Amino acid sequence: MKTSRRQGIVIAAGLLVLLLIPLLSSSFYITVLNNIGMYALATLGVVLLTGVAGMTSFGQAAFVGLGAYTTAALIGPSVFNLGAMTGVPWIALGLGLLITLAFAFVLGLLTLKLSGHYLPLGTIAWGMSLYSLFGTLESLGSHTGIADLPPLKIAGVVFGDGPRMYYLIWGSVLLAALLIHNLLESRMGRAIRALRGGQEMATSMGVDVFRAKMVVFLIAAGLAGISGWLYAYTQRFVSPAPFNVQSGIDYLFMALLGGVTSLWGALIGASIVVLLREWLQDLLPLLLGRAGNFESIVFGLLIVLVMQRWPGGVFGAVSALLARRFQLTPRSQARLPLQGAQRAGTAGLQALPQRARPSPGERVLDVRGVTKRFGGLVANNAVSLQVEAGEIMAVIGPNGAGKSTLFNLISGVMAPDEGDVIFRGHRVNGQSPRLLAAAGLSRTFQHVKLLPEMTVLENAALGAHLRGRKGVFASALRLDGEDEGRLLNEARTQLERVGLGEFLDRPAGSLALGQQRILEIARALCADPCLLLLDEPAAGLRLKEKEALAELIRKLRTEGVAVLLVEHDMDFVMGLVDRIVVMEFGQKIAEGLPDAIQRDPAVLKAYLGGVDE
Ligand code: ADP
Ligand code: MG
Repeated sequence: MKTSRRQGIVIAAGLLVLLLIPLLSSSFYITVLNNIGMYALATLGVVLLTGVAGMTSFGQAAFVGLGAYTTAALIGPSVFNLGAMTGVPWIALGLGLLITLAFAFVLGLLTLKLSGHYLPLGTIAWGMSLYSLFGTLESLGSHTGIADLPPLKIAGVVFGDGPRMYYLIWGSVLLAALLIHNLLESRMGRAIRALRGGQEMATSMGVDVFRAKMVVFLIAAGLAGISGWLYAYTQRFVSPAPFNVQSGIDYLFMALLGGVTSLWGALIGASIVVLLREWLQDLLPLLLGRAGNFESIVFGLLIVLVMQRWPGGVFGAVSALLARRFQLTPRSQARLPLQGAQRAGTAGLQALPQRARPSPGERVLDVRGVTKRFGGLVANNAVSLQVEAGEIMAVIGPNGAGKSTLFNLISGVMAPDEGDVIFRGHRVNGQSPRLLAAAGLSRTFQHVKLLPEMTVLENAALGAHLRGRKGVFASALRLDGEDEGRLLNEARTQLERVGLGEFLDRPAGSLALGQQRILEIARALCADPCLLLLDEPAAGLRLKEKEALAELIRKLRTEGVAVLLVEHDMDFVMGLVDRIVVMEFGQKIAEGLPDAIQRDPAVLKAYLGGVDE
């Protein structure tokens, strides 16, 4: 493929430049590049947290500090003084990582389950307390820190702070970027990227949201820990100042400036900030005629400007520019599109195993007298209905009748105050949507919840999350080939089944609304459901799109899927479904065949003559 070949050339050229730089530049610039590399490594973690998973952390510097201080305490002269022993660098790295991850795990347990601003606030508190801990502990040298650290020595080779350290630092950056890139293109990666689509959507796809957040949080902290280890050996001196909250903000700033939608953003952001700071620290005092911390003000203004003009950061702005210039698809719109389609093309893979189908006529869903109150309002009042395998049932009713509430009770978003929801013979009141998905209940959303930047194929594959096995390590190391190939094949099969087969590589956000709704159905089908719940699938569709949708739902019925749809649009429903339940003011006012419902006086009254006879 042309684009991937061009990418290969760009990457190879970049690697060559990176390799040659130490031979061509002064030791000053090698030091600067080493700093950039260490910042970039930790900033990769921030990009992952903020840009990919939608979480904000001000605590990255504190994690770098933990890695650096652990190393310094082990190798420095004042605490354990193990510096001269062989193998100690690895012990320092392992211990630094262990401590960083342990702290991140505890902080994650405390904040990741809470929504909103608890995580950012938690990371600020964490950054401040760790900073004061470093500053007060006598054994860690309080405010003066730990000096006279020995240089890094591995297998007799001394790394110092020059070219050798440069290769180590940049080797780590590239390796980390490669592993994360692999991870993001996998089953776990899709789960992580789904976090931005909202908790409700991710859970309904079977993603363990808390676990996915924790994984990202730990990876980010781990990268910071490694960066800290490199820092201690490069600077050979640690003090609290570089690890305060201000520095935590710097990392966030680098990520936002570089562009959080891409791993390249970390490299770009770290480079700009480090170089600009060097330059401004020389220039501003000359311009202003006195010494001071003026570069912070410039950075502050810069971030406001960037956020206003280029929300995708420098990476986003430049790739959009290049796209216009060379007529490429902008990368920020079509993230990682090629690989997915290539891997889905793998022939000779076994299809995913399917769950045992309910026999035709088997009662799949049994809702028994559910009541749901919101304060004084009874949104559902003793509602009952049953759906059989191979049947299409619609719940209709005017706005505010309680259809969405009923839908939420069935799909596990909330639990009924009274009554029971029985799915395939088991009582599932208020059970997590994730477990319901595992049991064979899949859904779409009234307001489409897709990941617009991900490809159609990847969006659909997210629905098959629970049918894959491979986790973080396997995918980072690309040992998930077969698993991933089968998931993507399934996604492609379902997309072809619903008629979206020609759009696999397109960003989901570029589809028309009707197609997006159909994509949501394909995503739900990837979970191999026995019951499909569709919340107002026809809303906002044009006539032609409604016809295509009805066609698809009929096709699913012949394949034995039970479909329960909640719909506002009587006309859409009448020609399509087998049975109808009508709701008004939270109550079921009628149930029966479409013909009978159309003549039911109570229904006609509820719709105020809105049905043409
Ligand atoms: P429909 O989907 O049929 O339009 P809903 O189930 O959304 O109806 O709403 C039924 C009633 O319950 C409405 O009066 C609505 O205002 C109320 N309602 C729905 N969800 C909530 C909620 N989370 N909190 C309070 N009231 C709610
Ligand atoms: Mg509704």
